[in-house]
Amino acid sequence: MADDVKWDLEADVVVLGSGGAALTAAISAHDFGAKDVVILERSGMVGGTTAMSGGMLWIPGNHHQIEAGISDSDDDIVAYLDSLAPGQLDPDTLGAFMERGPEMIRYLADKTPVRLHAYADFPDYQPYMPGAKPDGGRSLDNDAYSFERLGKWATRVNPTKMAYPMRGSLMEAVSGSLDEATLAEREKGDYRGLGQALVGALFEAVLERGIPVEFEKRARKLVKDGDRVTGVVAEDANGRDFRVRARRGVVIATGGFEWNETLVKAFLRGPLTGPVSVPENEGDGLLMAIDAGAQLGNMQNAWWQQSVLEMKPQHRNAKPNYLLGSDERARPGAILVNRAGKRFVNEAANYNAMGKAVVAFDAGTHTYANLPYWLIIDQRYKDKYPTFTSPPGSPIPSYMMQAETLEELAAKAGIDAEGLTATVARFNELVRKGHDDDFNRGDNTYDNFYMWGDPAFEAPFRTLGLIDQGPFYAVKMESGALGTAGGPRINEDAQVLDWNGNAIPGLYAAGNATCAVLGEAYGGAGGTLGPGLTFGYIAGCHLGTHLPNH
Ligand SMILES: Cc1cc2nc3c(=O)[nH]c(=O)nc-3n(C[C@H](O)[C@H](O)[C@H](O)COP(=O)(O)OP(=O)(O)OC[C@H]3O[C@@H](n4cnc5c(N)ncnc54)[C@H](O)[C@@H]3O)c2cc1C
Repeated sequence: MADDVKWDLEADVVVLGSGGAALTAAISAHDFGAKDVVILERSGMVGGTTAMSGGMLWIPGNHHQIEAGISDSDDDIVAYLDSLAPGQLDPDTLGAFMERGPEMIRYLADKTPVRLHAYADFPDYQPYMPGAKPDGGRSLDNDAYSFERLGKWATRVNPTKMAYPMRGSLMEAVSGSLDEATLAEREKGDYRGLGQALVGALFEAVLERGIPVEFEKRARKLVKDGDRVTGVVAEDANGRDFRVRARRGVVIATGGFEWNETLVKAFLRGPLTGPVSVPENEGDGLLMAIDAGAQLGNMQNAWWQQSVLEMKPQHRNAKPNYLLGSDERARPGAILVNRAGKRFVNEAANYNAMGKAVVAFDAGTHTYANLPYWLIIDQRYKDKYPTFTSPPGSPIPSYMMQAETLEELAAKAGIDAEGLTATVARFNELVRKGHDDDFNRGDNTYDNFYMWGDPAFEAPFRTLGLIDQGPFYAVKMESGALGTAGGPRINEDAQVLDWNGNAIPGLYAAGNATCAVLGEAYGGAGGTLGPGLTFGYIAGCHLGTHLPNH
């Protein structure tokens, strides 16, 4: 069949998507021996969700961590991940992540403009589990990167979605350590941190190598010759076919399926109503992999994130825009309640773990017990802290309800009033006592981390605070996600497996387009990009060093 195809373009390696996993795959395939590599990107911009993100990478045992004097051990890493994803870890892919993750970080440092540093005190997300690093070390942050280096291509990077000032690294932004003069200098040189820095630097590496990015090419169908994947058919902006031959192989790195309602309903363990990723992530890679006979895994899981509908259409199409809601709920003086007015979770817990509480099913009422749910704050909070896009003390944004009393607020929002007043009274009692007996909020370093907790207080009051100064406010929250976490299962070489466990020749995958290699474990800040870039790198190395039929 492949012999009949009239190709529009030919390359050794074709990478689908241009997020972190894809860019890393393209660069490493080139560096390890592939003659020509091409990237097909559905949108008109580079970077996908990665460019919008915090850009952190969770890679235990990386050289920046070791140089910062924070040791690690295989036993600890395995114990920690196994405690977060019991029975889900495949020893081969886990081993590849542990060995080649640090190798990938070294490669990026040596061969590309990517500059990372250990965010030394950023705690692992479940610091109370065995093998965790409660005082951090495994999460990597990006140095600020000057977009001047990209020249005319700077405008082609997808914008950020992070609420932090962008001129420094995340560490600099959160600690406010940059003085005015440095900030002005950074502004002048168009320095950007976080996911912008990561994608900017990876994109520079792509440009340096002369790897073309074919924009507005939506990959739709894999071409096979017998068992082997030999190319891909994409759809261009005019709906015409664009056929690209892949002499060595195709890497699916098209992100998750969170914006595809049919796939979300078919696979996820509960409702996903507010994805915060790029709207192009509609699961095209998953559909192509299914068509090619791929084995699927981890389909029920997403990288859960609490979000808020901002109502505004997203920049490139008419899809709604959902704001990230991780920090607001963890600050002192905020709680989350369900329609019964009850708290249901430690509000300072990490977003991925919390997402599983959000989609809990109540067999008694036969409903999702915690959907919908609301953030509740008071005037003291509103005057002091930012709430999503709304700075302290600013007018009430469209997504926020206000009322003089908790009873009125409950009536406006559709929450049980008795439940809400009783819950707030109970919460205030626990705050006064100094311990959250109901959900243990504030018991660990993650809950009290200064990025969301208020560093002006000591633990547990960095996250625990009274709600007692009206007017009161409610914000309806969505069951959101950074992306989905299921897809084609891959092996230690990032090759896609069929249902018999055999590699499908010529087909590779990385990032959120795959069955997450660490199952539902989200080890710490960078829990999706760490494995995503690692397996992008592994796919690139394998494609660079292996000719077809090897
Ligand atoms: C605000 C925010 C902060 C975050 N912070 C972090 C963090 O600090 N660390 C972390 O680990 N995770 C973070 N995440 C999550 C992280 O950004 C994503 O999990 C990660 O970027 C996914 O990378 P990816 O390469 O798999 O996909 P993406 O970066 O989403 O890229 C997928 C690309 O594929 C393209 N595409 C889709 N379909 C097709 C098609 N058919 N053909 C061609 N191209 C296609 C898309 O347009 C997109 O460019 C954050 C997310 C958000 C929104």
